[in-house]
Amino acid sequence: MSHPESHDVIVIGAGASGLAAATALHAAGRDVIVLEARDRVGGRLLSVPTAHPERALDLGATWFWDGEERVRTLAAGRGIATFDQHLAGDTMLQEVTGTRRLTGNLVDAPSRRFATGAQSLAIALAAGLPTGALRLGRPVTAVRPGGQGGGLDVLTRAGTLHTEHVVLAVPPALALERIDFHDAFPADLVRLGRSTPVWMGAAVKVVAHYPTPFWRQDGLAGAAFSRTGPLQEIHDMSGPGGEPAALFGFAHARTVRPGFEHAVTAQLARLFGPAAGSPAALHVQDWSAERWTAPSTVQHLADHSLYQRLALNGSLHWASTETATDHAGHIEVALASGERAARAVLQAPADVNDTAQDVIAPSR
Ligand SMILES: Cc1cc2nc3c(=O)[nH]c(=O)nc-3n(C[C@H](O)[C@H](O)[C@H](O)COP(=O)(O)OP(=O)(O)OC[C@H]3O[C@@H](n4cnc5c(N)ncnc54)[C@H](O)[C@@H]3O)c2cc1C
Repeated sequence: MSHPESHDVIVIGAGASGLAAATALHAAGRDVIVLEARDRVGGRLLSVPTAHPERALDLGATWFWDGEERVRTLAAGRGIATFDQHLAGDTMLQEVTGTRRLTGNLVDAPSRRFATGAQSLAIALAAGLPTGALRLGRPVTAVRPGGQGGGLDVLTRAGTLHTEHVVLAVPPALALERIDFHDAFPADLVRLGRSTPVWMGAAVKVVAHYPTPFWRQDGLAGAAFSRTGPLQEIHDMSGPGGEPAALFGFAHARTVRPGFEHAVTAQLARLFGPAAGSPAALHVQDWSAERWTAPSTVQHLADHSLYQRLALNGSLHWASTETATDHAGHIEVALASGERAARAVLQAPADVNDTAQDVIAPSR
């Protein structure tokens, strides 16, 4: 038999935006929980550990840039060490006719990185939530009006929860494909949501981990452009002081087929010398195959201001980096979208939190 469960706010998704919203709402004294489909936090922030206890390799987001104050402040406040992206050295260009060395780094712009990996931002935010507020392995399957008492019911396979406000911190196209909103959204918003691309949702990130950043000794930046692939642009992704040593590149999902890994190491050897052909580890992260990141299809459309409109009687608030009107795609913007959703909840007319009492009904 299930127990009654009701919360002021339910955040769907424990990526940067959902965790930022939950953090702001918790700080404002709201009773908030986060339902996350995966068994980990971070969404598109994903870092794998290395032999060095304080270093990780990023398989999702990598950099942040000057002026991204939310990210900088969050990292500084939670003791996450950051460092400059390695820039020094020449660029390699790969064409059908062969490879060429170009003077200087023509690929990378100045940026900063996280020594323990970008996912540590999400881990730090999650650690600040009260015990029990984060529920992993809980994909939300439906959101529907909560009946006569108002509010919303949020359905998962483990049961139905009741809330006054939902913060939907899932890329819109994915949310509309996987969560049943019972036709609650106007047609223009559904059209927009279905056609808003998931930022980097079709990307394949390949990280080659080496014992040392040997390319630096040859005066190379670890940066390359390729017109042949499979990797199209390559960057030095080593940690501070070159530890751990790594290169990473992006490829198209359609090129990931049997023989892909061999094609990658052969390409790296052509660009950076024979040592590059034998990485200690090769990570291939195909985001297009991630059930909780990539919807089945998306096209392109604009006017993201629709995401700021009230939905479901003012009870549903969009977050996720895709819902921003400016610079959609960056971690900074994901954090900002979570804060925007939290502000909207806090500014909403008084709700029925004091009296809320609802029943968990098993959902199928
Ligand atoms: C390869 C790659 C490289 C990138 N590089 C950079 C970079 O260098 N710098 C930068 O600033 N940004 C970069 N980004 C973008 C950055 O990662 C995103 O902007 C940011 O992480 C998005 O956060 P979010 O909370 O909006 O969405 P997400 O991180 O996608 O979070 C959504 C969460 O919702 C969960 N979820 C989905 N469906 C459900 C459901 N039905 N029920 C419950 N939970 C659900 C997901 O599991 C996920 O945890 C990169 C992204 C990728 C993939």
